[in-house]
Amino acid sequence: MKDPQYYIQGVLDKDRRALSKTITLIESSRSDHKGLSRQVIDGLIPHAGKAVRLGITGVPGAGKSTFIESLGMFLIEQGLKVAVLAVDPSSSRSHGSIMADKTRMERLSIEPNAFIRPSPSGGTLGGVASKTRETMIACEASGFDVLIVETVGVGQSETTVASMVDFFLVLMISGAGDEIQGIKKGVLELADGVAVNKADGDNIDKAKRARKEYESALHLLRPETKTWSAPVLTCSALKMTGIDKIWETVLDHRNKFTETGELEGKRKKQSVAWMQALLEDGIKEWFYKKYDVKKSLKKLRREVEKGSVSPTSAAGDLLNILED
Ligand code: GDP
Repeated sequence: MKDPQYYIQGVLDKDRRALSKTITLIESSRSDHKGLSRQVIDGLIPHAGKAVRLGITGVPGAGKSTFIESLGMFLIEQGLKVAVLAVDPSSSRSHGSIMADKTRMERLSIEPNAFIRPSPSGGTLGGVASKTRETMIACEASGFDVLIVETVGVGQSETTVASMVDFFLVLMISGAGDEIQGIKKGVLELADGVAVNKADGDNIDKAKRARKEYESALHLLRPETKTWSAPVLTCSALKMTGIDKIWETVLDHRNKFTETGELEGKRKKQSVAWMQALLEDGIKEWFYKKYDVKKSLKKLRREVEKGSVSPTSAAGDLLNILED
């Protein structure tokens, strides 16, 4: 096993191999890797925090990978370094999981100033997200200017990704109907911006109408801050139109939030919430691993099933084990 300094220095030296190895270490579930990984992250944290952190969601087929490729190429042309990460806890492809296949982002994947890393696999959403957050730290310490974190618009993963980025962009398509797009009010509430994609060819008018609809839907929501209300834009990821406007919006948001101190406040809140979530996961894991809990849980489950012990007493008995 290597020294933490080996990883830290390699990442700071912008060595891609070292960055990849560091991410592999972060993602490792081996218990003897955990301590080392923690030391590496602690060493990198002081060098992180400068990148623009952008989250992107959208239903499968909305054009996320096409959009990320177009935005990524646009940013690279401006001399920026771009890392693309994903949070995808779903194991089945039928749910539209983000695949690691090489056909996604073909142009971006060969750019020396781009780094694409598929979602860590396995584990709970919390576990997957935690690894992605640490990977973000490593990428930032390695000099990436923009971090794009992608997630599929199903389940809870949007909330999780929104809680780890500065700007959360929801990608929509027109004419698909709200149900198909899975647009719960909750997702719009998370959005710092909405982009109606595929505004090209015969679809331009439809996209404009959809834009109006989303604008009125967003109007009904009270913005979280006076500084910002989420705009709705249109773009074509395929034709690369409207991408510049979206990036301008992200920067505008960043400037305003920096000026008011809200960016720093948001990140602080996110860090504390992350710690809290890790703590709660850890407590659960620790509790269920305890021998006495394992032993009594089985027995009490059966008794609750039979009705001979109430759920309240059973839970109380189990929690009492903590007091020993
Ligand atoms: P993802 O599942 O959200 O990552 O979506 P993809 O990026 O794989 O795109 C799904 C399909 O939509 C592909 O066939 C793309 O070529 C197409 N697509 C993506 N963006 C656009 C766009 O702006 N205009 C048009 N006409 N098609 C697009």
